[in-house]
Amino acid sequence: MLLAVPVGSTEQHGPHLPLTTDTDIAVALVARLTGAVAAPPLCFGSSGEHAGFPGTLSIGREVTQLVLIELGRSASESYPHVLFVSTHGGNAAPVGRAVEYLRFEGRDVRAWSPRFGGDAHAGRTETSMMLALAPSRVRMELAEPGCTEDIGALMPRLTREGVRAVSPNGILGDPTGATAAEGRELLERATAELRAFVRGWIGAELAA
Ligand SMILES: [Zn+2]
Repeated sequence: MLLAVPVGSTEQHGPHLPLTTDTDIAVALVARLTGAVAAPPLCFGSSGEHAGFPGTLSIGREVTQLVLIELGRSASESYPHVLFVSTHGGNAAPVGRAVEYLRFEGRDVRAWSPRFGGDAHAGRTETSMMLALAPSRVRMELAEPGCTEDIGALMPRLTREGVRAVSPNGILGDPTGATAAEGRELLERATAELRAFVRGWIGAELAA
């Protein structure tokens, strides 16, 4: 039996998307992983890079890591396999360290993150998925381009100074062309990749 835990964040996603965007996407992916038990989401994470925007609620890297370690320990008492489905890039390091720690302790815990490609934050990619998942919570009339520079080139400055320094509206990308159809496609592709990951890990046990 596999327990899948959506690991998200509560952070600004521009003027047009809800603060729960990452969590909503993680919950949606876990819900599509038929055969697994879906845990309630971890809806706070490490979002220091989004400080200075109203609504961001961050618990930082260390606490995120500790929460996942304790959660993984506890979950392993009930479930032989535990998977963190992590959709927020800022959580990648704490999620990775927590999994390393838990596996060192002999627990069968893994992490998986979707690679959607496209805009990095609150842009076309996430906006399309939110249009597919919860259109009434997307305010397309407020969608506008943010910083559209290449994310790789931006990374050093983002890490040092945060999103606010490079994008006053909090968006990395351009959400204006987003569509629900594109969002559905992104979610379907990610779901297929997630299922393939789980099959490769624990075999056909879950393949429904
Ligand atoms: Zn996001």
